Amino acid sequence: MTESPSVLLSVKNLKRHFDVGKGKTLKAVDGLSFDVYKGETFGLVGESGCGKSTAGRTILGLYNNTDGEVLFEGENVHGMNDKERQKFLKKMQMVFQDPYASLNPRSTVFEIIAEPMEIHKMYSSKKELRKRVHELLEDVGLNRDHANRYPHEFSGGQRQRIGIARALALDPEFIIADEPISALDVSVQAQVVMLFQRLQREKGLTYLFIAHDLSMVKYISDRIGVMYLGHLVELTTSDQLYNKPLHPYTEALLSAIPIPDPDIEESRERILLEGELPSPIEPPSGCVFRTRCAYAMDVCAERKPQWLEKEEDHFVACHLHDETIMKDSRNPRKQVQV
Ligand code: SF4
Repeated sequence: MTESPSVLLSVKNLKRHFDVGKGKTLKAVDGLSFDVYKGETFGLVGESGCGKSTAGRTILGLYNNTDGEVLFEGENVHGMNDKERQKFLKKMQMVFQDPYASLNPRSTVFEIIAEPMEIHKMYSSKKELRKRVHELLEDVGLNRDHANRYPHEFSGGQRQRIGIARALALDPEFIIADEPISALDVSVQAQVVMLFQRLQREKGLTYLFIAHDLSMVKYISDRIGVMYLGHLVELTTSDQLYNKPLHPYTEALLSAIPIPDPDIEESRERILLEGELPSPIEPPSGCVFRTRCAYAMDVCAERKPQWLEKEEDHFVACHLHDETIMKDSRNPRKQVQV
């Protein structure tokens, strides 16, 4: 009998809204629910502006939640006092998108990596602290000579390695990586992804890996949640998502990934996403994807799709997969133009 995976992080109906004045509200995150299991990589993907980075920051408690809750090892992240929060931040850390902006340009690499350990008073002697910084540099594929240099002396990929070393300094269990490879050259992206994978194996880390690029997320994620305009629209294993996507938005995102073989690339059918992401200040009624969906039916404007488990561990929010709705002859499925 296989053991069921243990839940490390549980996000329940999480909402993060921003008051933008004139009585209007921007619903950046509007009811997210998912679990992350210990030791896995959970990919959260979607276009820029879909709310995934706000979700990451709200999960870490950098933003207050408007509603819902985030439980880490059963503890409510948004209900912690200062002491509990300090303890929690040792366990959950973040790696940011722009490695240059997230590193203080006036600090040496030693100071950048040592800072969290000094704040948490982890070492009583400078010698122990220095030894730990050197170990962390080596863990991320840099060397101890780099400790006395400044961020501007490094390439983008090396700077991201410094950011990862800093995130590892407190020996966390969970890392939220917010678009950690988007600002890097394609040739460097794979190296940083491999570094994340090696560190996970060696240190038993759990990741929430936020990205807009489905092609890389496939290689690192065990399960993937697809986000659109503040909502999850599909959630399943990485293999299942790529081999049998159910949501029209996931299909469109997958069809945008270029295939390296020029013959296949030229002949394959694409599902184009039309128009821009609508404003989260005035999201469409019913299904939030309906204004760009090639299959949209009248019912899509009237009713919000339910979150359905169509197969084991494969969830989707789309009326096309709701038998009760599709049985109704007033809801004919459209033919897609490709
Ligand atoms: Fe498209 Fe309707 Fe499904 Fe939304 S519910 S994704 S609009 S078919």
